[in-house]
Amino acid sequence: MKTCLAVDIGGTKIAATLICNGIMTQRVQIKTPASEKSEKLDSVLKELLLPFLESADFIAIATTGIIHNGIISALNPSNLGGLKSYLLKRCIENFSSLPLFILNDAQAATWAEYQYCQVSNMAFITISTGVGAGIVINNKLLTGYRGIAGHAGHMLADPNGPLCGCGRKGCVESIASGTAIGKAGMLLWGDSCDAKEVMQKCNAGDPHGIEIIDRSGRAIANMIADLSISLDIEVFKIGGSVGLATGYIERIKYYVAQMPTPYQSKIMLANYGSDAGLVGVSLWAQS
Ligand SMILES: [Zn+2]
Repeated sequence: MKTCLAVDIGGTKIAATLICNGIMTQRVQIKTPASEKSEKLDSVLKELLLPFLESADFIAIATTGIIHNGIISALNPSNLGGLKSYLLKRCIENFSSLPLFILNDAQAATWAEYQYCQVSNMAFITISTGVGAGIVINNKLLTGYRGIAGHAGHMLADPNGPLCGCGRKGCVESIASGTAIGKAGMLLWGDSCDAKEVMQKCNAGDPHGIEIIDRSGRAIANMIADLSISLDIEVFKIGGSVGLATGYIERIKYYVAQMPTPYQSKIMLANYGSDAGLVGVSLWAQS
């Protein structure tokens, strides 16, 4: 069995671990540097990964952003500490000659969740800071010719909605994400309010809290309906800090159930937590 050095580069943290035979060892985690200069990320990654190289047979990296030819480009630059694009493959190859696999983090998490589904067509949707997604069709993970496939959080929810981080107006993410929920909460309850607090108010029966969370859940339900009718998805797995919050998936299920039958699919909670990207990219690299 080969040993994988799995890495997950997120907007707030970078995690690295060895995975062999499904067992994770020596997991470490650091904060993602906030710098518009790629040299900073270069040196942070080198320092983090060098100690692992001797024990690893290959490197598998899940990262935020769109992956094309080993280069990360950010649909929303604020997700990568302000970096608009980053030469990830070149950075790694400067200090390692191990085989290298790179995948978008939501796509990686989807591949991990797919292993539990026992269906050929599924999608994973993560609702947290943003809204990420990934799609498996006929047992194959969709990446697309530019690596963009599955970015369903940037499908349209409301043409008159708020401006999304990607530059388009009214994306699902701009209405349903934890960031969007927090912003709606701040307008009512002040700057210290965040998605977690809005969720608590909702679950305590506050009518404004319910309205904000409902709006989020409805946008996700419509996104699920659109994916169901266009791709004939059998199972949707829901994850992320908002997606896994008490009562949230029930709202999605409620709104999907209001739609005509062809728009409906099975909706389930995700099996993995924050390690989905690490596990998924390691499995995908060996598939
Ligand atoms: Zn967008």
